[in-house]
Amino acid sequence: MRSQLFVAGVIIGGTGAASYLLQIPLMALWSIPFMAGGGLMIVASLLLSESHGPVQPPEGYRFCAYCGNPVKLDQARCERCNGVQPGAGGA
Ligand SMILES: [Zn+2]
Repeated sequence: MRSQLFVAGVIIGGTGAASYLLQIPLMALWSIPFMAGGGLMIVASLLLSESHGPVQPPEGYRFCAYCGNPVKLDQARCERCNGVQPGAGGA
């Protein structure tokens, strides 16, 4: 599930439900769309998989500190920009 979308759906749906229950003028008109939208967001958040965090380099590689090119862990220099990788041996 996608927790941020779930929280947003709860907030929007709750706003709609509150405006419906309290019969806030004007806002009460929007209570049904708010509840429907919030409900849709909650359902969508449950169906969607959790978004992955920062992109991870492939196994045995790391991203070049200068151009982002995947560089083998035992390589001291990047093939693309020839930048010396921080922490690599022999630097
Ligand atoms: Zn590079």
